[in-house]
Amino acid sequence: MNEEAVASSFYFQTMKSNEPQHSYGARRQRLQQQFERRKIGALLVTSLSNIYYLTGFRGSAGVALVGLSESILWVDPRYTLQATEQAVGVEVIEAKGGLLKDAAGWVRKKRLGHVGYDDAVLTCRDFASLERTGGPRRRWVPAGGMVEDLRIVKDPGEADWIRKAGKLTTEVFEEVRGKIRPRVRESDLAAEIEYRMKRKGAEGAAFETIVASGERSAWPHARPSAKLLKENDLVIFDLGAILGGYAADMTRTLYLGRPSVRVRALYSKVREAEERAIQVVRAGRLAGDVDAAARKVLKRKGLERYFTHSTGHGVGLEIHEMPRVSRGDKGRLRPGYVITVEPGVYLEGLGGIRIEDTVLVTDGKPEVLTLASKDAWFTGQD
Ligand code: ZN
Ligand code: ZN
Repeated sequence: MNEEAVASSFYFQTMKSNEPQHSYGARRQRLQQQFERRKIGALLVTSLSNIYYLTGFRGSAGVALVGLSESILWVDPRYTLQATEQAVGVEVIEAKGGLLKDAAGWVRKKRLGHVGYDDAVLTCRDFASLERTGGPRRRWVPAGGMVEDLRIVKDPGEADWIRKAGKLTTEVFEEVRGKIRPRVRESDLAAEIEYRMKRKGAEGAAFETIVASGERSAWPHARPSAKLLKENDLVIFDLGAILGGYAADMTRTLYLGRPSVRVRALYSKVREAEERAIQVVRAGRLAGDVDAAARKVLKRKGLERYFTHSTGHGVGLEIHEMPRVSRGDKGRLRPGYVITVEPGVYLEGLGGIRIEDTVLVTDGKPEVLTLASKDAWFTGQD
């Protein structure tokens, strides 16, 4: 082995071997396959998560163009080095006159025909500048959602990142579980969770960790407050680490003390609703079937009216992405989808109970990626 080979194999082992691999080129190819149907010859990509998905670049500013023969990434001088290092299979251009303006100027110079743009993200002002620099209005074709549609099916590298994020999220919650007791502040527990995520190698929390106790647990999206946990509080923990850009999402509900018969019954119904819904998660089933399975369990006990949100959502580069998992949804699940299943009930004066897992859709049984125990849910077990 020559020196160069040794150096590169060392690099490979230290930097790459533990990391799930991305296939940016294959993703761009899947995108290009849609061009004919959408009547475009190139797509201007302006959302940062889509740019990361298609090129590997993870800076906070950039514009990409995926064409049939070449793909380009424009960055400002802060990101030239980083983009050259991270972006795979695309030409990096340092923008001199503004990212969008330079990209539009390039499109005009190359006389590209129809170019798609993300009408779900681009502002009216940006579009006006695109038209001004990039040529006639008819050139620009609204094409929002094209990349998001591809992102629904996770490739093996992406599934691996989410699996890792789920494992880390689970471990952090199991570690912090021992610190959950009366007279501890909600915000302290949230901070402890996020600190431990980072110590274990996460980039951070995928969203602001929810710790909501007592009556506040009845607010499905309560922010952690300075409130101290009390005896006989229900406490909702909703957390997710982000790793390699990919999120996991998990909720557990705990009870501080010995729960009443009513609270036990509520918990067991929410748990049953969640587990029944997960059993329905399988390629070929409708997303709406998953929602219906959860709702059916709660309905039998007259609890459906306390379940005030949809059953789940897709997870990936963003914490909420496609597909929807809601009432009557006609989308069909496919292998590689990653969704959450998160039924909950919220009762004014009593509090809320929600249980959530992140689940990978396969042809057979789904793979649950967040595995924190649901058994040890109250303190003072008898
Ligand atoms: Zn969540
Ligand atoms: Zn969620």
